[in-house]
Parts: sequence; C-alpha cells; structure tokens
Amino acid sequence: MILEVRAVAPFYKNGFVVGCERTREAVLIDPGDEVDELLGAVRDLDVDVQAVLLTHAHIDHITGVAAAKDAFDVPVYLHRDDLFLYEMAVQQGAMFGFKVRQPPPVDEFYGAEPFAFGDYAARAYHTPGHCPGGVCLAIGKTGQPGSGIGDRGSGSHLFVGDTLFAGSIGRTDLPGGDYNVLLRSITEVLFPLGDASIVHPGHGPDTTIGRERTTNPFVLEYLRSG
Ligand SMILES: [Zn+2]
Ligand SMILES: [Zn+2]
Repeated sequence: MILEVRAVAPFYKNGFVVGCERTREAVLIDPGDEVDELLGAVRDLDVDVQAVLLTHAHIDHITGVAAAKDAFDVPVYLHRDDLFLYEMAVQQGAMFGFKVRQPPPVDEFYGAEPFAFGDYAARAYHTPGHCPGGVCLAIGKTGQPGSGIGDRGSGSHLFVGDTLFAGSIGRTDLPGGDYNVLLRSITEVLFPLGDASIVHPGHGPDTTIGRERTTNPFVLEYLRSG
C-alpha cells in the first residue's frame, strides 16, 4: 500500500494519500491546509486520485477539499450526519478567525458498499461522538482470505479522524459531540476491528488498536466505570 501523510500549521491535521502500488489508483483523505503538500505527493508518487474521502467535516479536515476538487475533479465522500458541519465551513472558519473558501458540494454519502481503488477498498464505519457524522475509514487489500477490510484481526489501516488518538480521544465539547457516544464508538466499533489494525489519527502519530485498548487512559477509565 502506498501511504503518505502531510500536516502543516496551525492545526497540524494529518492529510493522507493512500494508493495501490500495482495500479497507482489512490484516494485523498481529509485534505486540509496541507493540500498543496498532498498534491505534491500525488505528483511525486505518480498516482491517479479517484476520490476525496472525509472522516468528518470539522474545518481543519476540509479546507483543502476545494483545491483537491479543482485538481482532480473526483467525487467527495462524507457521512450524511456531518453535512450540516460541511455546509457551515465558512462559519467554522470564522470561529477560528480564518477566511475559508466554501468547499464544493458533497457528491456521495457513505453507504454499505466499500469504495474500491486498485487492489484496495475503503469501508466507512460510523463512529459518532466527536461529531455526529464521524467515520473510521478501514482500508485493506481486497480478495485475499483474512485480509478483508474490517475483518477481525485483519490488520487493516484505520483512518479514524478525531475519534481516537495515540493515548487520547477526540474532544466532545463541539456541536453534536457526546462523550459516551464517542467511547461507545471506540470500544464497540473500532476495537472489534482487531488489535493488529494500524490506527492513523487525524492529529499526531500512528498507533494500533491493541495499544489503545490496553493503555489508553480514557478508554481504561471508561471500561472501569462502565
Ligand atoms: Zn474534528
Ligand atoms: Zn481535527
């Protein structure tokens, strides 16, 4: 799997290029302020971008969608429950004191069918709590026994947005956030995807489901009190 990550000030939000090493087909995940770096990576890797996949619609994760749409003219995917945030992009920017270009319309809402690119596919798991329409994008190789996306123990790559971080969890004080819903998403949706799954959070370093399940203090506290 081809995987490149970029992040820039002020949010240091991770944007990703994920591609198939055989066909060079790829997707962009959460293009934000680092979109120029992502476009550069796409050029250097010589991959063919097929879609923009969004984990959620907070402003730091969508400021680069317009530039990505200009560059590739591919469909933009979002969970339906975050459409209200997406449509408030300009107001969200103003809250942080930024002028933001209204992103292009969402083309597709995530459904049950995974999005295929080359030998890989991305499946969206609904993980509300940080915001209503947060998803985990599980990406893995298709057509190999035991490597199916989201199969238990398959070691998929999970792009979790701001739901789960290395040693931390997403904030729940923004509109539509809910602490108990978030912890349920983490423990009941993400954890069953398997300890070996590699977690790529929206901010900060990678981790694994196994590491967070056994050491994340917020998770341990929730499981103790639950
Ligand atoms: Zn967020
Ligand atoms: Zn974020």
